[in-house]
Amino acid sequence: MNKNKVIRSQQLRFMVYTLIAFTLLFGIFGTIIFSQIKTTLYAKTDNDLNNYKMMIETEGRGEGNGASPDKDPFADKTGFPPPPDKGGRPVFNPRVIPIQWDKDGKIVNIQQIGFINYENYFSDMKFDPSTVGAISNVKVSGSYHFRTISVPHPSQAGAYIQLMVNVDSEQNLIDNFKQIIIICSVIFILLSISASFILSRKMMKPIIRSWDKQVEFVENASHELRTPLTIIQNKLELMQTTPEKRIMDTFENVALSLSETRRLSRLTTDLLTLARADSTETQLEKQSIDLDEFVHKVCSPYAEIAELSEKHMWLRLHSKTRIEADPARLHQLLVILLDNALKYTGEYDSIGISTSVKENKAYIEVSDTGIGISEEGLSRIFDRFYREDQARSRETGGSGLGLSIAQWIVDSHHGTIQALHNQPKGMIFRIRLPK
Ligand code: ADP
Repeated sequence: MNKNKVIRSQQLRFMVYTLIAFTLLFGIFGTIIFSQIKTTLYAKTDNDLNNYKMMIETEGRGEGNGASPDKDPFADKTGFPPPPDKGGRPVFNPRVIPIQWDKDGKIVNIQQIGFINYENYFSDMKFDPSTVGAISNVKVSGSYHFRTISVPHPSQAGAYIQLMVNVDSEQNLIDNFKQIIIICSVIFILLSISASFILSRKMMKPIIRSWDKQVEFVENASHELRTPLTIIQNKLELMQTTPEKRIMDTFENVALSLSETRRLSRLTTDLLTLARADSTETQLEKQSIDLDEFVHKVCSPYAEIAELSEKHMWLRLHSKTRIEADPARLHQLLVILLDNALKYTGEYDSIGISTSVKENKAYIEVSDTGIGISEEGLSRIFDRFYREDQARSRETGGSGLGLSIAQWIVDSHHGTIQALHNQPKGMIFRIRLPK
């Protein structure tokens, strides 16, 4: 599939997911706050209504104030419920308006609730049976909000007492708050769209980078594999055209094919190492290592090779420390650096290996007085397949993967590796590892 198309659709998917997540979070947050404010605002009113209801029921059963069970609690002169006594019964909110409905659905206590109240609010009202037993909101005369509950009249069958509390101010607050939440939600959704867009772009960046890197890696790998394969194929085809020749006569072809096969085998091993490193499949098997002793052991055979090619190798191993490392990987790391040092130095050059400890970190330095590297090369030396001089590296058998593997080994040990110019010429590779 086209790369840009895939990236665009993935970015869109990221954006939608982030937007949904933001909206959901804000939605839940807003709903919790809103319902919390609503219940808090109505809590006092509902408490008063329930107390009133309880009192009516208690009076009806004749338990309150010494009244007899068949005594109508509202049958006194005024029609109001008996005043709360000071001996423990709750004190009632004067905002509670008790409306008495007879069994024909008519208000019978107009005097009690007051003529003005009746005219302004309740003259058009009808009794709503759904208000019996449960507190609900009702709108009266089109614009007045009441919290209400109805209780069957304790002594008149089919009649009801409806308790009403005007909650216009509370409702006003809730409406304002609802408006604020809606405005904030719209602003927040607009902001989330831009935030999700920016975030999705940011999230895609490393994916695009690793995509490009992977494509480049595959291209380079196939190129590197194709070259030796072509050489081997050519040589074998040439030999096939002259089957009468003896191996001795085509020795050069056989030797070249063999050397290319070795290169191929090294290359596939390196590629496999890096592929496993990328998939974090490779597990380190760390153990405590005596650094000086370990480095000495790895370097010994190289000192002999250096001597054979008229190079001088010196060791200065003064770390006197142990480090936690995977011995196989540490060995591989040193071999890569020593191989390079031998490859890129000439006769009478020197190669030095030193170990030390600074600020609780172990240092290994591999330096040489060889051909060194350009300034541009220094910044790219750890890139995969980077070779300072393609032609020269083919001669030396390098594929440009050694230092990438070295960097992965150091990274996986939580250390650092640095490439520096040596003075007056050559290279220094400085490795810093935690102890
Ligand atoms: P190669 O297998 O080509 O040596 P590396 O990844 O080990 O691959 O090294 C990458 C490149 O870095 C080499 O091609 C070479 O140009 C340069 N390089 C590495 N080590 C040295 C060194 N000690 N001196 C000079 N150049 C070096």
